[in-house]
Amino acid sequence: MNIILLGPPGAGKGTQARHLVDTRDMVQLSTGDMLREAKDSGTEMGKMVADVMARGDLVTDEIVIGLIREKLEDQTDHGGFIFDGFPRTLAQATALDELLKAAGKPLDHVIELGVNDEALVARIAGRSTCGNCGEVYHDVTKPQPADGKCVKCGSTDFKRRADDNEESLRNRLMEYYKKTSPLLGYYYAHELLRRVDGLAEIDDVQGDIAAILNDPA
Ligand code: ADP
Ligand code: ADP
Ligand code: ZN
Repeated sequence: MNIILLGPPGAGKGTQARHLVDTRDMVQLSTGDMLREAKDSGTEMGKMVADVMARGDLVTDEIVIGLIREKLEDQTDHGGFIFDGFPRTLAQATALDELLKAAGKPLDHVIELGVNDEALVARIAGRSTCGNCGEVYHDVTKPQPADGKCVKCGSTDFKRRADDNEESLRNRLMEYYKKTSPLLGYYYAHELLRRVDGLAEIDDVQGDIAAILNDPA
């Protein structure tokens, strides 16, 4: 089973992807995480994309398609791939179609996490992640444990993303509506689009996604 999680910044894609990794042995392919890794380890590509990411603009199609191509070639898929934050443009979507076709892997579902802008601002403003394992927290809806230790790995190192500020978020939302939202029509026409209510509680969203993945239709 290979799926795309589609939705604006803060919709809950990463949170849901991690749950699928834990419960279904799926493999999360997050271009955002890959780009942040490149930036943190100071590679040439990482240096090139740092400013673009800080502003909340999209990195070039060429770079992210290259990252995904490498993963599809090198990484065993276990329970299937979860594309998280990719594709974000029509060019990326058609490139992914080609890559999957060449690898003989189907795309089974594109799951849209529906949310509204007010919720996104609140989610991004409260987001933090474990610096060691990447577990996602929220100041209000999923607070860091009182003992200061990550529930998953026990690390005490928590991070906030440099681009989780209001100005960058506004830009990321515009990029989403201009360049990524056309993918909803693209996948609808391919009869792959499924929608879930991303405003529901984390557990309920998990249940809705599980229902889609368990539905053979
Ligand atoms: P969020 O979870 O807030 O949507 P991501 O972690 O997916 O953010 O992405 C962070 C930043 O990385 C984006 O604002 C963009 O600059 C860059 N990025 C990630 N994925 C892509 C992609 N598929 N195409 C272009 N840029 C990307
Ligand atoms: P994305 O990967 O789409 O940018 P994240 O999974 O990082 O989104 O979630 C953004 C923030 O919202 C995080 O702080 C996360 O804990 C919180 N969050 C995710 N899903 C929900 C939900 N269903 N209800 C409330 N908060 C949520
Ligand atoms: Zn952790």
